[in-house]
Amino acid sequence: AVPLVVAVSTAIAAKKGLLIRDRTAFEAARNLDVIVFDKTGTLTEGRFGVSAVVSLGDRSEDDILRLAAGLESRSEHSIAAGIVEAAKKKELHVAGPENFKAIPGKGAEGTVEDLAVKVVSPGYLKDNGIDVQNQRVNELAEKGNTVVYLLVDDRPEGALAMEDIVRQSSKDAVHRLKEMGLQVMMLTGDSRAVAESVAGELGLDDYFADVLPDQKSTRIKEIRKKGLRVAMVGDGINDAPALAEADVGIAIGAGTDVAMETADIVLVRSDPRDVIHVIELSGATHSKTV
Ligand code: ADP
Ligand code: MG
Repeated sequence: AVPLVVAVSTAIAAKKGLLIRDRTAFEAARNLDVIVFDKTGTLTEGRFGVSAVVSLGDRSEDDILRLAAGLESRSEHSIAAGIVEAAKKKELHVAGPENFKAIPGKGAEGTVEDLAVKVVSPGYLKDNGIDVQNQRVNELAEKGNTVVYLLVDDRPEGALAMEDIVRQSSKDAVHRLKEMGLQVMMLTGDSRAVAESVAGELGLDDYFADVLPDQKSTRIKEIRKKGLRVAMVGDGINDAPALAEADVGIAIGAGTDVAMETADIVLVRSDPRDVIHVIELSGATHSKTV
């Protein structure tokens, strides 16, 4: 039988838009030391707009956008959606890719208009010894843009600077969690420059950038090894192992099915401030029980 207080708290939770999938984890939420947020789609809306296209060779900006959009029309990544949307707005004729393949945490590749095309992160370039020096791109990155590169036959032909929006509610959530004495951190596959800009805007205690999908859970494990109790909040497929590794895994309701199925708690309203409700309600349940 389910004790009365627990049943009541579940009903209150549901009213507040919290779906509790694992009761033990929910009860652990009153004793947390660290909250780790994923960046894209969790602290930010995860809706990217293209703020600039920079040619690094002979191709026009429209050519770069068209080829990138052709490839990305098959990708499910939020960056891809932003690129396709920008090409549509400019009414460019976008042809879908052949041999499409995602490069997890780094980009995508395929054949577009008979060309071998990749759209990749700065980290991918670094790993493959491809050097790009461009002042305009550097400036855009320093301003906090997420930069991806278009490669044709592995030669950098262009850069696309993308801007995401930090959720209004994220700043408030971080501020209040810190006031409650918690350490608030961020994990992201995005570059250091973008992470630094978001971390500064939100007043985060710490952040980890350039984290590959399979490394997210390792970061959580490291925090737990220090004897700290940690909640992970995320939305993506790539967050699922980290959600499973954390003492409390929390998924944003607008996130992927995989994240929600793995999480202990789902925030139905996709509002990071609801993490505070989780902690408060967990504490209230406890004080009523003892
Ligand atoms: P996050 O942890 O911020 O949700 P991901 O692990 O999904 O990020 O992606 C990390 C980085 O990999 C992105 O910032 C981007 O540079 C690159 N990337 C991943 N998929 C794509 C794609 N389809 N097109 C372009 N870049 C991509
Ligand atoms: Mg995400």
